[in-house]
Amino acid sequence: MYDNSPHDGSAGVLLGFIEGQEARLAGRMSPAARKAAVLANFKQTIGNAAGSPKAYVEKNWASEEWTRGCYGGFLPPGALTGFGPALRKPHGRIHWAGTEHAEIWNGYMDGALRSGEDAAKAALKKL
Ligand SMILES: Cc1cc2nc3c(=O)[nH]c(=O)nc-3n(C[C@H](O)[C@H](O)[C@H](O)COP(=O)(O)OP(=O)(O)OC[C@H]3O[C@@H](n4cnc5c(N)ncnc54)[C@H](O)[C@@H]3O)c2cc1C
Repeated sequence: MYDNSPHDGSAGVLLGFIEGQEARLAGRMSPAARKAAVLANFKQTIGNAAGSPKAYVEKNWASEEWTRGCYGGFLPPGALTGFGPALRKPHGRIHWAGTEHAEIWNGYMDGALRSGEDAAKAALKKL
């Protein structure tokens, strides 16, 4: 769980992730039961006020067609050691960009920007 409130403190916003087996279990709950479980957890962690939010939004990232999960790409054991060198190598004129191709902050926004800049520089160099 994260404090996702705006810097000016105008509202209190909490963000939580449910991952792995817990996510699979939560995915099978009814929306009402899931909400109750999430709010019970928030309450237990930071106090009663967190159990009565003004708004509640949830998202199942696994059902998002172009994302298929949260919150980053997962490489199983052996994938990086076996195929790592192929990850960033251009294929002919095709240059890869995306957070999974970043050398730093792989899997995060920072890595996505760095990777985009790297790919743009590499493509410009070839023009
Ligand atoms: C719930 C969640 C919370 C996160 N929280 C954080 C955070 O707090 N901090 C942080 O740094 N990072 C966070 N991340 C990770 C961050 O969002 C990603 O690392 C970043 O957005 C990746 O950027 P990207 O440009 O590599 O890929 P994306 O933003 O995934 O962009 C890829 C784009 O390609 C499109 N696409 C896919 N396939 C095709 C296709 N075949 N044809 C055309 N278009 C296609 C997709 O629709 C998408 O728009 C979070 C991610 C999620 C899901």
